[in-house]
Amino acid sequence: MKILDIDNQHTWHPYNSLPSKSVILPVKSTNKQSIYLQDGTELIDAMSSWWSAIHGYNHPDLIKALERQARVMPHIMFGGLTHEPATSLCKKIADLTQLPSVFLADSGSVAVEVALKTAILYKKAKGKNVSKFIALENAYHGDTLGCMGVCDPKNSMHSLYGDYLPKNIFTSVKNLANTIEKYKDEVAGVILEPIVQGAGGMKIHEPQYLKLARNLCTKYDIPLIVDEIATGFGHTGLMWGCDHANMRPDIMTIGKALTGGIMTLSAMATTKNISDVIFSSEVGVIMHGPTFMGNPLACSVANASIDLLLSSNWKEKVQNIQNIFAKELKSLETLKIVHEVRNIGAIGVVELEDETKAQEVQDFCVKNGVWIRPFGKLVYSIVSYNITNKELLKITSTIKEAINNI
Ligand SMILES: *Cc1c(COP(=O)(O)O)cnc(C)c1O
Repeated sequence: MKILDIDNQHTWHPYNSLPSKSVILPVKSTNKQSIYLQDGTELIDAMSSWWSAIHGYNHPDLIKALERQARVMPHIMFGGLTHEPATSLCKKIADLTQLPSVFLADSGSVAVEVALKTAILYKKAKGKNVSKFIALENAYHGDTLGCMGVCDPKNSMHSLYGDYLPKNIFTSVKNLANTIEKYKDEVAGVILEPIVQGAGGMKIHEPQYLKLARNLCTKYDIPLIVDEIATGFGHTGLMWGCDHANMRPDIMTIGKALTGGIMTLSAMATTKNISDVIFSSEVGVIMHGPTFMGNPLACSVANASIDLLLSSNWKEKVQNIQNIFAKELKSLETLKIVHEVRNIGAIGVVELEDETKAQEVQDFCVKNGVWIRPFGKLVYSIVSYNITNKELLKITSTIKEAINNI
């Protein structure tokens, strides 16, 4: 059977039904910024596989790390055992985030679940039985039920899951400070995406709200969770989104680009204060332990990806991408069907007036050699830091032509 026939009968795709409601393309291989389809078509990648492939595909350093580790120890349980790939990685994450207590998990959503559980345990250890969180409108923090509970209620369609979801408190960036003041005694934490809100709307914010949240959370001893799963590892031009506000949260979640887009791995990092308080409390431990926690293959490739990033001039590369997105996409704003154009770091966003045209944009781009996958009204691109100017200009000119043609 052809793979598309099998796909159509047995394979569920993300945010989709079975069979798929939209066209599915069979991919044969990848290299650098290129995706090669089964029929030989080459597409320039404008998505970096959902914010993860920051170095491009098949980077030899990452492949080597994976191969070397596969021969020595592909996996070992993490309960009661440890190993160099994991300890190296935790040390790197501690140094990079300035948050020394690191919990490895297997996907971004799981890291967010662990972050929420950690905040609740911290408050419990301090004698407070609270379990509500303050989150932002347009937030996206993952697809598991706890995560969904802190995602924007409309975007993540809370209504479909009714009472099964935890009830949290949502506010705008503008009213965040007031909301923290109002609910300070009822909440276990505040959770925010820094600077850029990703899958909940691709919104870009001024850093001030992060400082305000930091000050109030310190004042009232509320754990501040910053979700850097999308923004982390340089996507906004600085290593972390929260670097734009020169602040550190109490709990940070990272994922996506952590392994350079090769394996699924995420982490929650927190302060020594929070891990010490839990350690000394009656609850004592976090009851969470993914079967594949600290997977050596994933940790090895994450170590290699971080080394590769830190030894490169990534800041200049991201600045160059930012300049090109700004220069090339801005002119689209004069079009009637375009609501707004915005960009920061390696992220370019064209928000259309309505969602009916997004599919046309995608179809045109694919026909013309660019892989892009809009959602709703948002046509957006996140590119690898190793993209060439020529490849990036091909992406921007194809997006422009697609939108101009509507
Ligand atoms: C993608 C994402 C998640 C979820 O990560 P998964 O690996 O898909 O579970 C959580 N938070 C943010 C900000 C994300 O962008």
